[in-house]
Amino acid sequence: MHATEALREADRLMTICNACRYCEGLCAVFPAMEMRFTFGDGDLNYLSHLCHQCGACYSDCQYSPPHEFNVNVPASLAKLRNQSYARYAWPKFLAGAFAHNGLVVTLLTAASVAAFVIGFVALKDPAVLFSKTAGDFYKVMSHNAMVALFGAVTLYVIAAFTFSLRAFWRDINGDGPRAGFVSFWQAIGDTAHLRNLGGGGGGCTSEDERPSAQRRIYHHFTFYGFLLCFAATSVATIYHYAFSWQAPYPLLSLPVMLGILGGLGLLIGPAGLFVLARRRDPVLVDGAHKGMDTAFIAMLFLTSLTGFLLMILRDTSAMGILFALHLGVVLGLFLSLPHGKFVHGLYRFLALVKYASERRSGKFVE
Ligand code: SF4
Ligand code: SF4
Repeated sequence: MHATEALREADRLMTICNACRYCEGLCAVFPAMEMRFTFGDGDLNYLSHLCHQCGACYSDCQYSPPHEFNVNVPASLAKLRNQSYARYAWPKFLAGAFAHNGLVVTLLTAASVAAFVIGFVALKDPAVLFSKTAGDFYKVMSHNAMVALFGAVTLYVIAAFTFSLRAFWRDINGDGPRAGFVSFWQAIGDTAHLRNLGGGGGGCTSEDERPSAQRRIYHHFTFYGFLLCFAATSVATIYHYAFSWQAPYPLLSLPVMLGILGGLGLLIGPAGLFVLARRRDPVLVDGAHKGMDTAFIAMLFLTSLTGFLLMILRDTSAMGILFALHLGVVLGLFLSLPHGKFVHGLYRFLALVKYASERRSGKFVE
């Protein structure tokens, strides 16, 4: 019935869990599962993106190894989730590269972009790379060149997200009803609070098998750090186009303050998640796709680190090279977004919309 081993295993586990139902209060996965008698590919992918991999259902399960049923819901859904990135990705030919060598491919992309920027500037005027330019980034690369570079990458990322989100929604929702505003609003609330990362109350299972709120807290730092950095870029864009106020902006200006707060979030959150991931019980994770997860948090951390270095050293002769490095890391991050862990955040949001919509209708799903 299912094309892959990961789908067949998830189907087997959900069938066992649907008979057991001991974990129904832990997260959204189990109530959504209970609304189904059978599990198609789309249902299983939907459930996999509702899962936060908190581990609570593994430590609570009486059928986990060494029991012969061998029930391990977190690892099984993690594997399915990681494989789903390639299933819905656009363009397809890039999905495999990021899936198997996520960290290497992303770092190579960042290094290539940085080398391109350095080469681009060196061709025009190599002295600019090592001269003090009083924080004026546009002397290294003109505003128009930056807009062209980021504009092309942004269009690519928007197209990739549009096609892949559409494919995901069609697969999980099929001919189901359209989700209304209330379902969207509820999903926004669930996302903002990371409600399901609570593991049923105490938080995610930590390395000593006790619930801990740390993973949720570091996710919050990362999530809101990313949003604040996005807000900083948006405000700077408005300053430039609406008021003709050009960068560099003073330390106490709105874009710089938003950038500093967001940057701190992107240093603390990814670093905390990296440490927690290393301490996690390997039985709960999908070891085959670890590189993809590491790539995302590493690129977020490097984006923030190079951003801070650039801000601190922007009036020195190191600015030109740091600027190229920062651009490389940011564009490397952007290019990896549609194929890595970031896209789980978007699929998860749609899964929460569907969950809210199903719960409101209260009907079983055929
Ligand atoms: S994870 Fe285990 S205890 Fe929880 S519902 Fe499934 S079979 Fe039951
Ligand atoms: S690992 Fe956590 S989020 Fe995932 S199914 Fe189990 S209890 Fe739910």
